[in-house]
Amino acid sequence: MKVMKFGGTSVGSAPRMKGVVSLIADGETKVVVLSAMSGTTNSLIEFTNYLRNGNPTGAVEHITNLQSKYKQTIKELYSNEEYAAKANEKVGEIFNHLRSFASQPLTSDNEKEIVAQGEMMSTNMVALYMEEQGIDVKLLNSLEFMRLNANNEPNMEYIAENLSPIIESRTDGKIYIAQGFICMSNDNRISNLERGGSDYTATLIGAALQAEEIQIWTDIDGMHNNDPRIVEGTRPVRHLHFDESAELAYFGAKILHPTCILPAKLAGVPVRLLNTMDPKAEGTLIDNNLTEPGTIKAIAAKDNITAIGIKSGRMLLAYGFLRKVFEIFESYRTSIDMICTSEVGVSMSIDNTNRLEEITNELQKYGTVTVDKNMCIICVVGDLTWENIGFESRAMEAMKDIPVRMVSYGGSNHNISFLVRMEDKEKALRALSANIFK
Ligand code: ASP
Ligand code: MG
Repeated sequence: MKVMKFGGTSVGSAPRMKGVVSLIADGETKVVVLSAMSGTTNSLIEFTNYLRNGNPTGAVEHITNLQSKYKQTIKELYSNEEYAAKANEKVGEIFNHLRSFASQPLTSDNEKEIVAQGEMMSTNMVALYMEEQGIDVKLLNSLEFMRLNANNEPNMEYIAENLSPIIESRTDGKIYIAQGFICMSNDNRISNLERGGSDYTATLIGAALQAEEIQIWTDIDGMHNNDPRIVEGTRPVRHLHFDESAELAYFGAKILHPTCILPAKLAGVPVRLLNTMDPKAEGTLIDNNLTEPGTIKAIAAKDNITAIGIKSGRMLLAYGFLRKVFEIFESYRTSIDMICTSEVGVSMSIDNTNRLEEITNELQKYGTVTVDKNMCIICVVGDLTWENIGFESRAMEAMKDIPVRMVSYGGSNHNISFLVRMEDKEKALRALSANIFK
């Protein structure tokens, strides 16, 4: 049994919804996870912003505009009046519910309930369309099985225990439709898996059901070996090990939510990234199978990185120095990405600069601090086991004309990273591709 997830763009209009249904209705039993129609979650958040700013009239106006888009989609989606009426009724109920929040104070519970409605609408509309087409479909309510534990992490046991009985049979050809993103909290309140969380829903369901495969459908043909907007002639990567994809998740967040891959890895369920615009394309398969030895898979970059350096004679031959430095970052809840050390200095990179000033003020107690902003991490991912020879030097060679602020290698078997200025990013990506994938 497979789990297939379609994002907001894939269900973003009536024709796209029909496209999704033609992809999923192949007679096999499966669970299909859907996001809200694209733009809807943002629009619902905007609705809560109006309310928070004490403008219920603006809020109602805003939500009524959104409803007219839904009415138009419904008009285009169904050919049968009866189903169009059913959809208008269901979606209309949800919009009336949304409007009811305008006449009460906004609580954080209300906010969560409001943003949950996008997925409720898209799944209801698609399930009704499938019913109209005579397809054997069952609409699930993710709030009945998707749940967080006391640490706000998915409660795997609860999910598996409560989902399995809802799936009546794994072979009856029925298609189960579930809302991505939404869940219940440990204390029974409506909550969610954070923005972009529908991928996570899919891997959690796939892991809970021990699915044969989890498919994440987007509008790109899998993960490319470099940024296709910058480098010419990039190719989709056919296969990645889960560990390689974890290295890339930080960079490739566009197609893979960083936390989403973990449940699949732990359960040993392969994840396949596929393209709704080109369904026959092979896409990218991510699993626990050994990676192709001696192969570099992909190059990726992340912008808006800040490098912080601290140099101190006190570091020489001292113990406990790094602990003190790291504790400062910890106390300001700022995670460090790259680290490089020498005998008398250490440099670190961060992407969240909200507490930069406090951090540098505290670091100054221990040495001379430097800050370099507008940097970018470029990472090369693949089989980079240290015993292999040649790959590090090929990567380094590619950077020969580019000022490099930091290099990190040996942290895992799968990665070498460079920190360069953002203005040198394009040059670096092209040079790496030319040197590594030639
Ligand atoms: N609809 C949610 C969002 O826009 C979840 C998702 O699309 O994955 O963030
Ligand atoms: Mg997404």
